[in-house]
Amino acid sequence: MRLRLLNLLLGVCVVFSTAKAQTQNECGTADKQSWFNKLKSKHPIADQRGGQLIIVPYQIHLFKASNGSSNLTLSEIYTEIDSVNHFYANAGIVFVECIAPQIINDDYYYDFDYNLHHTDVLNQFYSNNVVNMYFANTVTSSGGSSLCGYSQYPPSEDYVMMAANCATNGSTLAHELGHLFGLPHTHGGSADELVDGSNCATEGDYICDTPADPTLSNSIVNSNCIYTGTATDANGMPYAPDPNNIMSYSRKNCRDYFSPMQYDVINTTYNDFRNYLVCSFPTATNEKNNKLDLILFPNPGKDNLHLTLSNNQKNATLLFYNSIGNLTYETFCDDKFKTINTANWVNGIYFYKLINVNGEESNGKWIKN
Ligand SMILES: [Zn+2]
Repeated sequence: MRLRLLNLLLGVCVVFSTAKAQTQNECGTADKQSWFNKLKSKHPIADQRGGQLIIVPYQIHLFKASNGSSNLTLSEIYTEIDSVNHFYANAGIVFVECIAPQIINDDYYYDFDYNLHHTDVLNQFYSNNVVNMYFANTVTSSGGSSLCGYSQYPPSEDYVMMAANCATNGSTLAHELGHLFGLPHTHGGSADELVDGSNCATEGDYICDTPADPTLSNSIVNSNCIYTGTATDANGMPYAPDPNNIMSYSRKNCRDYFSPMQYDVINTTYNDFRNYLVCSFPTATNEKNNKLDLILFPNPGKDNLHLTLSNNQKNATLLFYNSIGNLTYETFCDDKFKTINTANWVNGIYFYKLINVNGEESNGKWIKN
């Protein structure tokens, strides 16, 4: 029996590792044939990237125990979202906090059970037109299995549900948001993609620049992120999957790559199915940890904006976007310090993006008032 079928039957694959008590639980996003049919019919997927930066608003809902304790902090979540933004920048998308975080101190929801809590939570703790990011201590599937997280293919409510022990592993949040923006697992829904790519548009993940994937797991990806499996496809060709793809079931720490066509799907899915996600009331002003060190002050500010970059970040491009995502200012930082005259800028919130010569980025917000 194919490993994929086995996984489907079990719902998820749960393996407990002794190291760091980390559970190797998987993703609970349910296959959705109507969406897969849409993806199939969309080939070739138009590249709409390269246009305006799309600002996708989100709100964090953090479930803590009744006494306020939690295995996850807001600060850790923001750090992870910055990492997610690093990945999604190539899709022309940046996730920006739009509504202040909601902290729910309640033992009842802390260990989230799909059967008990899913509908309840979406009814009670849900904001329209933003991506609702839920973080619970544990997440249990309808079948009783432990999950890292789950989401839904479009069209659907806009949410991801995350378990604390997977929320900051560097790839699961990006993975679940990938589903929200249309990406299937690289091992696909139920059909068999051939290694030679001849049926890549109609089988597997319906995306042709991701290699056929026999369903990865920790047992066939080694600690160096090398695939060690020996499975062959229907033609007898050995699989050569990509253990780095974020939408695979590879080791969590190995997953750090979306393919160009996956970025096309993300961008197209936003434009076609989730473009109502727009922030109307940007309220949060706290800066996040970023890949690059950049300090803006004062924030909020008025006529002059002072920047300090860490030494190795000079020679970077700094872009400012207004609250609806239009590029309003662009400058090159060739020194560690810079002052921008902002006297003529319209009052409001600006989203900035700093990109150094290595393509590394930092994102954040600055308010003019
Ligand atoms: Zn998944």
